[in-house]
Amino acid sequence: MNIMHRNDLKKITILSLSMFAILGLAGCNDSSDSKSKNVKSEQKVETAPLNGKFIPIYEVARTNENRVEENLWRSRKLLEDYTAEMNSFVNIPVDIKVVAKECKEANAFYDSETQTIELCYELGAEERKMFTEAGDSGDILDTELYQSAVGTLFHEAGHALIDVLDLKITGREEDVADQLAAYILTYNDEDKDYLLTVSDTYSLAAKRAKTLDDLPFYDSHSLDAQRAVNFLCYVYGSDTKNFQYLISDDLLNKERSEECEHEYNQIVEAWDFLLAPYFKK
Ligand SMILES: [Zn+2]
Repeated sequence: MNIMHRNDLKKITILSLSMFAILGLAGCNDSSDSKSKNVKSEQKVETAPLNGKFIPIYEVARTNENRVEENLWRSRKLLEDYTAEMNSFVNIPVDIKVVAKECKEANAFYDSETQTIELCYELGAEERKMFTEAGDSGDILDTELYQSAVGTLFHEAGHALIDVLDLKITGREEDVADQLAAYILTYNDEDKDYLLTVSDTYSLAAKRAKTLDDLPFYDSHSLDAQRAVNFLCYVYGSDTKNFQYLISDDLLNKERSEECEHEYNQIVEAWDFLLAPYFKK
């Protein structure tokens, strides 16, 4: 897959199909929110040279369950491809480490203190359970897990870029981070599959809630079912002809679908604008 900004006519073709999707499932409890957003960040962009890099790091998993996910991610070069894509796409002022690791919870994070994206093996293991229970197996299952992990990483990229580039956003950062993932993964048609997988992941996660009391209305993330619909809406909005089939009463209903093209165009225009000073030439 290729990450590109829309203003750039040349195509980067470093990576092949093997990539991506978005997600958070349990959410990413990024620790960037409200911390470290102060005056010093105002100076980051103007004064720092933009020679930072995204750096891939795999920690060794200790449990058998987590080792399965480590092996999958390593064999598919998840972090290598992701960081190469980010490095070919945007200039950043500091290094951002991207670490696959055991966290003792199924989650992903961005830590603004250390400029580190953390992707937990436990998240892969939890998604493996969900997709397996839904009847998937073999290569299809592995691809879904891979695509979901990619989606999560691009969501975390949203938090990371908002932090290190001190981007001004309005609206909940969790929603904005999802939108960056959608922005990136709709640039090329072949990557849209990743977003559809991410939507599936949230759909499956949403089914775990049995009653309204199970829903985390307090959470900074939109509800899983809403995130599932949002991703469908963005994919549909990016190409209403080819993705007409996504409209159904189950998730993306007719009424919401009428807004999707507009929503999608807003996302593209906003991220084009926010990242314009930082795109690789
Ligand atoms: Zn997040």
